[in-house]
Amino acid sequence: MAFESLSDKLSSVFKKLRGKGKLTEQDIKEAMREVRMALLEADVNYKVAKDFIADVTQRAMGQEVMESLTPAQQVIKIVNEELTRLMGGDEAARIHIKSKPPTIIMMCGLQGAGKTTHCAKLAKRFLKEGHRPLLVACDIYRPAAVDQLCVVGAQAGAPVFKLDGAKPEEIARRAVMHAKDHGNDIVILDTAGRLHVDEELMAELGRIKQTVPVDETLLVIDAMAGQDAVNVAKSFGESTGLDGVILTKLDGDTRGGSALSVRAVTGKPIKFAGVGEKLDDLEVFHPARMASRILG
Ligand code: GDP
Repeated sequence: MAFESLSDKLSSVFKKLRGKGKLTEQDIKEAMREVRMALLEADVNYKVAKDFIADVTQRAMGQEVMESLTPAQQVIKIVNEELTRLMGGDEAARIHIKSKPPTIIMMCGLQGAGKTTHCAKLAKRFLKEGHRPLLVACDIYRPAAVDQLCVVGAQAGAPVFKLDGAKPEEIARRAVMHAKDHGNDIVILDTAGRLHVDEELMAELGRIKQTVPVDETLLVIDAMAGQDAVNVAKSFGESTGLDGVILTKLDGDTRGGSALSVRAVTGKPIKFAGVGEKLDDLEVFHPARMASRILG
């Protein structure tokens, strides 16, 4: 399970604090040094960990802790609140569905991150909510990608639009017309992935955005890739403009650093978490719940 090692380390720091009764500034400094180590070992971005510790320390040195009868509990509460804030705050970030259809969602990401799977996961979720999503195969470079979308689309129960021999932006344009004609209120564009962030990929995403009015650009990143995933998010954010992130493979043995760093590094919220290979394995990302999960 993700975060296991981070959770264990934090819980041992807090156990020590609880054993102390009243806390001195030195106790808090020592505990924060250990929390910082635990964050870095969980592959949290260096600056993110540093700023986080500075914020928590400042609050923990204040009256609410020093004068409390249960100071260790207060420190844990502060860590919980600051972890929540780090991941985006109390509210889960949602996808806004327009009253005037169709809402166009463009999914992007590197190959293998889980983009195609998550197009279908989203479609399934929207179907359950009573929407009529249309999946669109805009990856023209890998015939296998189109086939895969057709397979997972069928599993989700959502139609898939494809068009042989056309450019991605043309496929997107025709798909939106098709959606309007067929009453599909959500269009999900599965774009091409690459092994690395490259200019051609960004240019292609830009052309799609110039051709159809994309409402949500979601980047799919793999939690297992740790800081690399966060750097990918930063590059996409700068070149393409993102509305949010889907963090996949959180069910795996990830150390969790990406979940904690993405928001601070990119300024964009994690909207969903992928927690398995099956199409139902999709969760709305709730920062507060995730913080509580980490703190065990
Ligand atoms: P794409 O190249 O970005 O379109 O990635 P795919 O959708 O083909 O996914 C790559 C692999 O990751 C597949 O084997 C998926 O089953 C797997 N995968 C996708 N999402 C998750 C997830 O949330 N958890 C786990 N464990 N595997 C996932």
